[in-house]
Amino acid sequence: MSISPLMPVYPRCGVRPVKGEHCHLIDEDGTRYLDFASGIAVNLLGHSHAGLIGAIQRQAETLMHVSNLYGSPQGEELAQKLVDNTFADTVFFTNSGAEAVETAIKTARAYHQHEGGDTNRTELITFTNAFHGRTMATISASNQEKMHKGFMPLLAGFQYAEFDNLEHAKSLMSDKTAGFLVEPIQGEGGIRPGSEEFIHGLRKLADENDLMLVFDEVQCGVARTGKLYAYEHYGIEPDIMASAKGIGGGFPLGACLATEKAARGMVFGTHGSTYGGNPLAMAAGMAVMDAVATDEFLAEVTEKGDRLRARLEQFIGNYPDLFDFVRGKGLMLGIRMKVESRPFFVHLRDNHQLLTVAAGDQTLRVLPPLVAGDAEFDEFFDKLSAGAASFAPSN
Ligand SMILES: *Cc1c(COP(=O)(O)O)cnc(C)c1O
Repeated sequence: MSISPLMPVYPRCGVRPVKGEHCHLIDEDGTRYLDFASGIAVNLLGHSHAGLIGAIQRQAETLMHVSNLYGSPQGEELAQKLVDNTFADTVFFTNSGAEAVETAIKTARAYHQHEGGDTNRTELITFTNAFHGRTMATISASNQEKMHKGFMPLLAGFQYAEFDNLEHAKSLMSDKTAGFLVEPIQGEGGIRPGSEEFIHGLRKLADENDLMLVFDEVQCGVARTGKLYAYEHYGIEPDIMASAKGIGGGFPLGACLATEKAARGMVFGTHGSTYGGNPLAMAAGMAVMDAVATDEFLAEVTEKGDRLRARLEQFIGNYPDLFDFVRGKGLMLGIRMKVESRPFFVHLRDNHQLLTVAAGDQTLRVLPPLVAGDAEFDEFFDKLSAGAASFAPSN
């Protein structure tokens, strides 16, 4: 047998972490890495946060799982916390981002297929270079052919418009359009914030045509950008929103949030999940929200993000052949490179023990835990400087 016991779908690298300490990962051979990837925007409280660990420990000892056939005091508490802190009136909990986006897609379709709706409206307009997950619906929602190959047929009902191009989105609208599904700040696509004009334009088109504006905030949500959710930067609200990654701080958790109006089709029996909203996940989510959903914490993320960005902008000026510019918001930053970002990301990882994430559009993602401070930023710039100085892009 030559296939590995772990299905070989990931090009796994030689870093094999066995322990996490605050902003560092420790490999099985003892090597310490500075983790400015955070499990791809997941470990927002770092790796050994006492509050999060304590909450999970206490809940594990008390009650880990019960069926959604029973009442859920833990789910009600976290849902209320999210409702109190966002545009939403109601929340469905999932175990992952893709499931949260799936729920969002179903919610948008059900809005139109519910009584009083227009059942022709079944299509979502989505955007180029989007990433929404790896289930059949979520790969179908992305135009990226590398995710489609081998998995045909795709799920019908998605039209791809160019990201950040309002006119293109408008030109694809028809009497079949149910709404728009968009990452307000693209993550995998290269830390690309949608322009104000684009996001406001989508909101307006949705309002004028009774369409659903669905945000995928799986990567940009939960304090990462200095707001609890990125839509707050734009001064508008979505109708439906998928959240995950940071929301469990490392424990698998996702959520689909919606207004009462948008959720009108999601009635008894229409959707479900065995694990979704289990007490253990709710305890983790509550610990994360208690830590991050405060004005002080969010102001700190904004302030740290400004500082990190200013230092990055100054730094990249030393290597004009390597780096182009910095973009993003808060502690969701991307360095747009003048060369492919992947070889540089590998070089930083293997030769300088600095973990970042490569992304589309020649971008290096810098996603520190939100609890990183000046000591970690100093270490980051030491490693990044050494890495840039020793990197030969032509090799
Ligand atoms: C990671 C991600 C997803 C998928 O989340 P999973 O938990 O891997 O299913 C969906 N949308 C965006 C924007 C993401 O970054």
